[in-house]
Amino acid sequence: MIDKEQLLSLLGISEIEIERVVIENPKTIKIHIKSLKDGSHCHGCGKAINCFHGYGPEIELRHLPILGYKVYLVIRPKRYRCEICEGRLTTSQVLDWYTPKSAMTTAYEQDVMRALINSTLQDVSLKYDLGTAAIQEVVDRLIETKVNWTPIAALNVIGIDEIALKKGHRDFVAIVSAYIDGELRVIGLLAERTKAAVRDFFLSIPKRLRRTVKMVCSDLYLGFIAAAKSVFGPRVAICADRFHVAKLYRQGVDDLRKKEMKRLRQSLSKEAYDALKNAHWIVRKSRHELTADERRILNRLFQHSPRIREAYELCEALTAIYDAPVSKGQGKRKIRGWMQRVANSQLTCFNRFLKTLNSHWEEITNYFIDRRTSGFVEGLNNKIKVIKRRCYGITNRDHLFQRVYLDLNGHARFA
Ligand SMILES: [Zn+2]
Repeated sequence: MIDKEQLLSLLGISEIEIERVVIENPKTIKIHIKSLKDGSHCHGCGKAINCFHGYGPEIELRHLPILGYKVYLVIRPKRYRCEICEGRLTTSQVLDWYTPKSAMTTAYEQDVMRALINSTLQDVSLKYDLGTAAIQEVVDRLIETKVNWTPIAALNVIGIDEIALKKGHRDFVAIVSAYIDGELRVIGLLAERTKAAVRDFFLSIPKRLRRTVKMVCSDLYLGFIAAAKSVFGPRVAICADRFHVAKLYRQGVDDLRKKEMKRLRQSLSKEAYDALKNAHWIVRKSRHELTADERRILNRLFQHSPRIREAYELCEALTAIYDAPVSKGQGKRKIRGWMQRVANSQLTCFNRFLKTLNSHWEEITNYFIDRRTSGFVEGLNNKIKVIKRRCYGITNRDHLFQRVYLDLNGHARFA
């Protein structure tokens, strides 16, 4: 049997004493406690007050579970009277381990927030036996719905991307991020991804921080680029992030693959054609990402279509340029060489991508200015891919901001 001292140390809260413990069904422990602290601060004049005025009504605070039992701390807050304020104002004692009006202790709230990282309200609601509204209330209290610029010293690189709020809907929001003190942070979530909306957001960044921006990374959406140019001017490099560029050139292979598969469907036996199953997934990936089985299918496809092989090899070659530690000048030369290879190949599937390369030459090759900083959008993209799936259905932009913040920075904040 554990005694009150041991139970007290399990609770992890100081300056309280346990009066009694009640075990209830189903699997609930109610621990009645009393504050050992004296005094409070008058909510009228703010002065320290010590004149005890009795106990307020009992409150129950959910706390961290013990051995699978739900735990509630039951307390009647001490009240104190002010000798100065008119009507002898009384104030409840404020304790540092719970927030007035909350139904949980701070430790429990933090635990719930940790559980919510990379998860959903519904999932946490089930696991913790808490209403989703109660969880959202904690989120609202602990997590801001907008970035607080005050403690931020510099922005350096800003990334812009978009996320769809509902699967299959063209309902996008723009998400703006930055690396702040070594941490990837979301700094803005815009209802529209128009030039005007992005521009307004950039202008809402305090001037002192706007001056610290060195690079803006985005996809090749013209609205983003135009907004960045108009606010930051020529001083700031606009960089087409690698993830989006790769999508564009991989699209070239995919288009060719579609045409070629149509042709092969006519010319190959059913058996040979069926042996190319999943080829559409496989050509979208880099060789090093493929399993042995997938590599076999890819080679089979190459035997039937040397043109797909050629296009695929060209994609891999461009990815290799991106992977190489080259300067901007070297990067430009290498990509020009690649464009020459495409021209010599007589492939047409990259025509659209070549046009994009020409029209966004500076933005695309700015990637090589500083691969480490421009690579950060990739880090964000990987995280956003996961967040995207979880955020379908969160149409409230404030809630979405909180959730993205929690996924990106929750571990550091609530550790
Ligand atoms: Zn007072």
